[in-house]
Amino acid sequence: MTVNEMAASAHAANTLIDAPALWPAQGHTPTVVGRQLVIDRGEGSYVYTDDGRRLFDGTAGLWHANIGHGNPELAQVAHEQMLKLETYHTFARFTNDKAVVLGELLAGISPIERSKVILNSGGSDAIDVACKLARRHWQREGRTTKKIILSREFAYHGLHAYGTSIAGLEFNREGYGTESLVPETARISFNDAAQVEALIAQVGAKNIAALVTEPVQGTGGVNPPEPGYFEAIQRLCRQHEILLIVDEVITGFGRLGTMFASERYGLEPDMVTFAKGVTSGYAPLGGVLVSPRIWEPFYVDSADTPIFRHGATYAGHATASAVAIRHLEILERENLVPRVSELEAVLRTALTGLAQRQGAVTEVRVAGLLGGVSLAGHLNAVQICDDLIELGFISRPLRGNTLQISPPFIISDEELTGYVAAIEHAIVERENR
Ligand code: PMP
Repeated sequence: MTVNEMAASAHAANTLIDAPALWPAQGHTPTVVGRQLVIDRGEGSYVYTDDGRRLFDGTAGLWHANIGHGNPELAQVAHEQMLKLETYHTFARFTNDKAVVLGELLAGISPIERSKVILNSGGSDAIDVACKLARRHWQREGRTTKKIILSREFAYHGLHAYGTSIAGLEFNREGYGTESLVPETARISFNDAAQVEALIAQVGAKNIAALVTEPVQGTGGVNPPEPGYFEAIQRLCRQHEILLIVDEVITGFGRLGTMFASERYGLEPDMVTFAKGVTSGYAPLGGVLVSPRIWEPFYVDSADTPIFRHGATYAGHATASAVAIRHLEILERENLVPRVSELEAVLRTALTGLAQRQGAVTEVRVAGLLGGVSLAGHLNAVQICDDLIELGFISRPLRGNTLQISPPFIISDEELTGYVAAIEHAIVERENR
């Protein structure tokens, strides 16, 4: 068959999913293959399967579709940019107008004063760059033993080599024949500052390059910080000259009701990683916001000034950048970030009923438009998510038998309370079985 013939028959077959060539991501293939939901259309807070089922997207995909699906304005921007220039690389003397403008916008809203911006294609990329740059920083300073990257238990920082190596979800680090792909890493307690201090003493601050943290752990179960934890982390980083990398891949661009979660929690990062919410997924894009302490030495006007040897063909992709620029305009124009704060209050109220179902629900956690509902042992989050699909709602099982709540910012109060009611219904139904 020719490629055209294969494409035509693949499009025609509704049963593609029985034995697809496409290897599912992060899936136990015997369990997943044959029962995948093929999403082929999205509109606002809803997505549609290829067999016509309408599902409320209560997770905004993988925490990405903040402004909802099917936005015609962004489709138009991508169309126009591709006709003008799909992209041009940003190596050495070359750049493109859209990447430059996006850099200015991001520096303008960055939680770091006078940021420089490194662009790439997603969150895992961003983490790799931030960790590399942390090590590069200390090598350039002549502090050559400072190589270790600290990360928290239950952390998720993507799955490239650095993200895998610093994963706090142990299953993401296992099976590569070494304790860690990048050997110089160590795990810290996710909530106990005294343990963090002890670990730094044990490892030796002279060996530590950076500490990476999500403001609210996402895949680890939607875990907002314990009171006092971040204050202590911030103090320890300053005291021991450890760079603080805040991974805002989920929280960046409004998910917690502030443009960045660093503002909400008073964090003063040396680098911030971002992705998802910079385009709401309309183009693959991520990056790192970098503080002057790190970038200034690379900008000194001298023949000896070092180079940060990093880059990629799609770093600063023009179409992705054009989409990001318009997306940030939409966020502002539609007042979507303040809207998240209103929705946070609605979510808290909506979850009070569930929180009282002791026996079924062990804990409910909320920060911004992020919620986690942890279930008692006799209930199974995977099962409840399957039940919710049957009811027309998407959630996702996270660590700790937890259900993910992270809908798009564009939902109404009623849609949010309706979603929580559906979750409660699914739990009660399972309990009564
Ligand atoms: N960091 C965090 C906090 C994330 O939640 C994710 C993705 N869920 C990543 C990094 C990796 O991003 P990506 O999947 O775009 O590579």
